[in-house]
Formats: sequence, C-alpha cells, structure tokens
Amino acid sequence: MVIGHDPMRTHQARAPRNTQIFQIILKIRPWRLEFGFLTVLPFRPMAVVYMPPVERPGLDPQDPGLLRAVAQGEVRLTGEQALSLLDAARLHELGRWADARCRTLHGDEFRTYVIDRNINYTNVCTAKCTFCAFRRDLDDHDAYTLEYEQLYEKIAELVEIGGTQILMQGGMNPELPLEWYIDLLHGIKERFPSVHVHGFSPPEFIEFVHFFDPPGSTLEDKLRWVMVRLKDAGLDSLPGGGGEIFSNPVRRKIGLGKCDAEAWLTTMFVAHSLGMFTSATMMFGHIEGLADRVHHMLLVREWQDRALRELGEGVESVDGSTHAGGCYKAFISWPFQRENTPLGRLREWGQREGELDEPYPGDVVSSLNGDGDPKSHPEFGRRLRMAGAVEYLRTQAVSRLVLDNVYSIGASWVTMGPHIGQVALSFGANDMGSVMMEENVVSAAGTTYCLNEPVLCRLIRDAGFTPAQRDNVYDMLRVHAGPESPDLQVRDWSEHRARQLHVESGSESSEIVTTSPVQLTVGAED
Ligand code: SF4
Repeated sequence: MVIGHDPMRTHQARAPRNTQIFQIILKIRPWRLEFGFLTVLPFRPMAVVYMPPVERPGLDPQDPGLLRAVAQGEVRLTGEQALSLLDAARLHELGRWADARCRTLHGDEFRTYVIDRNINYTNVCTAKCTFCAFRRDLDDHDAYTLEYEQLYEKIAELVEIGGTQILMQGGMNPELPLEWYIDLLHGIKERFPSVHVHGFSPPEFIEFVHFFDPPGSTLEDKLRWVMVRLKDAGLDSLPGGGGEIFSNPVRRKIGLGKCDAEAWLTTMFVAHSLGMFTSATMMFGHIEGLADRVHHMLLVREWQDRALRELGEGVESVDGSTHAGGCYKAFISWPFQRENTPLGRLREWGQREGELDEPYPGDVVSSLNGDGDPKSHPEFGRRLRMAGAVEYLRTQAVSRLVLDNVYSIGASWVTMGPHIGQVALSFGANDMGSVMMEENVVSAAGTTYCLNEPVLCRLIRDAGFTPAQRDNVYDMLRVHAGPESPDLQVRDWSEHRARQLHVESGSESSEIVTTSPVQLTVGAED
C-alpha cells in the first residue's frame, strides 16, 4: 500500500501567474489547466513546467511575511537572507518556520523512518580525509574487504527484520575491479530482488573513473559509462556521502585526495539523468564558516533546479509514459565527530582569552560563492569550531528553508543522539532515517548510537507524530497507528537501549567497540 506521496513528483514551487503563462506560451499550447504548482496542458504530450519560487532580495530575512511565503513554497530565500537567518535568528523562530515548511510538504500526521543496513564493504581507501577514522591503507593489519558471502549474510539478516534497503559504501579501494562490483550487484539482486541497493557515493564513482579508465571524452561520459553498468547490474540509487563542505578552501584542507564539489555534483547529475534518485549531505562544525554551509545548500538547490528543469521528475504523462529524470530526494546534515581523527586534534576556537570576541577564521575566509581566500586569516584550517545541539538544529532548520526543491530532510540522530534527533522533527526534519543495525564510519569517530524499530517509533510518537515505515522513495509502507505498532507492543523498555556499534574486521567475528551502552530514557514511565 502506498500511502505517502512526494508532491515534488507532480508539482514544484509556485511561480507568479504571469511567469507561468509565459512558460505556457513557450510550450505553444493554447490553453491550460493549473493544479497547484503544476501547469498541465490539456493535449498530449503533457508538459510539466518546472518553475522555482521567486526571490525577494529586498526583504528583511526575519520578516514574518517573507518567512511565511517561504514556508508555503511561494518565495525562495536568497543566500544573503539564509546566511543572516543562520547567523542571527532566534533558535525557536528558525524551528517555527522550518517546521511550518515541513508541515506544508509533509502534513501534520506522519513522520517516517526506513529499515536499512549500512554495509561498508571495504575500509581500504586512497583518500586521506582528515576527519576520517575509518580508512586504512592496503597493507594495514586491519584493512578489510568483505567477501560476497559476508555481504549476503548481512542482507539476509536485514530482510529478516523487515528491512528494505542497504546503504553500501566503502573506502576507495584500487584493488577491486569493475567486475567485482558488477558480480556483487548481480549476486545481491539474484538473492534479494526486492532489496533496494543505495550504494556508492560520488567520491567512489570518481575513483571508479580513475581505476577503470572507462571510454569517454568528458568526466560526465566516463561516469555515465560506469554508472550504466552498475545500474544494469542492480544499483538503484546513490547516497550523498562525501559531500562534507563544498567550498574550495575548506574542501582542500579536509578532503585530501577526494573529489571536488564540481565532480561530486556532476556525478549526481549523471545519476539523475539515468533516472536515479540520490541524497545530498553536509558535514559541518569543523573549520568552515557559516557562509560555507549556506553556499553548500545553494549548490544543492541550484543543481536540483537543473535536474528538475532539464530531466523532469518521474512525472506521469497522460499517455502513461514517465519522465526519466531522477533528482535529490533528501538532504541530511550532521556535525563533525572528532574522536580518532587528525582534524579532531586541532585546537578549538575560544581557548585563548578574548578569542571568542574575534571573528572565527572560517567566517573570515568563507563566502557565499565558495571561493574565499584561505590566506585571509592565518589561523584558517588550524582551529576548530565544533557544533553542538543548538548549532545542529539551527543549521538543519535553515536547510529546510533554503532547500525548497528537495523533498525530505533527515534528522541525524546517529551523530546527535536519539533525543536531539527527536527534537529535530520540530526543526524541519520529516524523516528519522534508518533503524541502525550497524554503522562503521561515524562509530569509528566516536559515535555510539544504535536504535531498533520500536525505539525509533517511540521517539517519533513521543514527538507528536504517527510513525510510518517508508521505502527508499519515501512512500509509506506501514503506518503505525494501531496497537500492533512496534513501539506499542513493547512492555519492558528497559531492554531497549542504544547498542554498541561494531567495526568490520572482515573476519567472522566483528570487533566490538568497547564503549558504554547509552541508556535510552524513552518509555521510562511504562
Ligand atoms: S571519508 Fe571516505 S573517502 Fe575520505 S578517507 Fe574516509 S573512507 Fe576514504
């Protein structure tokens, strides 16, 4: 049963009526029907005109009239307005408007989660990101690449608990040929035809191009050559890993050996052109400035505009055919986790007396076009400004307001903890992400949260919504309103606590990270 519905499949942000009429004239159609944001022409082929909302650059970013129009999808924030909100708006005001935008898109009743499993197929990686505690060199004693059978076993465990999707990402391992991936994908689809494979982030694809040397005269051609083969073998969609922060000065400092923003965004565009949906991510709270975060969101929005404009959006035509185009389905942001990482060893800003009264180096360097001068502050890249719960909520709320053309905003409880994840549902997030069976990347950097389905449902219900399990395209599969709901079946909540995460060792028994379990407090009254 498909209950949920992504309205962006069939409509987009409202344009002024005269602009729509102009578009229709361009499409050479004598008359039209308008349904909300969608302009439908009465004759075949049905034309769908994508028009992003208009900007009102002259308005004060904290003007309630502006924010109300943004919440309704009628007006688009400019970069300057978004930066001003991120910098100066009150936390509760940001939450209020992000929540209003979220409710416009997703209604008041349901908030979703997915049951999937993160599988990190290898930790061997040619890149040396300074924020990464997961990567290994080929000859490290704990370097691993999972055998196919180990991968299949993990997927079987996922299917057993009602899971629908795997998130498969690795390091960038030069030892693995293209055939390894193709055979793996065939093997997965043969055994688990209904499992959705959400795999291989843009940095992996860029390295595939380097490793496999595919034919083609442009990066786009080469990416398409590789991607078509993996898609034919069973790849369904791409995760947004490796987004970090797009701006050049920051990326050059933290993403050593990793693709630049242009290559990342091009990879996603190729995926969209092949009809695949993807997500976009942002990792903040390290050396970047506030303008870098906004610049990152603006780039996602800009490339999403391009995908929606040029590729269509899977909108069904009256003759039954569909536009082939994919797009970004979701945006997820989280604060940098510092444990065991080179970046985490940097000194925090504010340790010297009076330092907090001075401009933060990242803010001095950052700009809304992403091309600030790294020499404009001598401490840039040498000092950290970590993000806590408030900064996380502020950033997520602004992302909901800026990304008017992206359907879903995911709460990041994996890094922020279950209860901040719960609060995030009132700061623009509509989705709680995945039940976490295992996670190896952020857990290597010190994060320990791991939740099962009843706890995730309980968190959503306690936040004031009905939990619903979704699939990978955000259609709801099961609505948990009745007494059979996973959380309403639980009698003893004391057994439900965040479990320890484990790190892949490549052997039968995984190495357990010996951190203390985190006691959940949900349901303590039961
Ligand atoms: S973050 Fe990913 S790409 Fe970067 S070093 Fe770690 S595994 Fe490699």
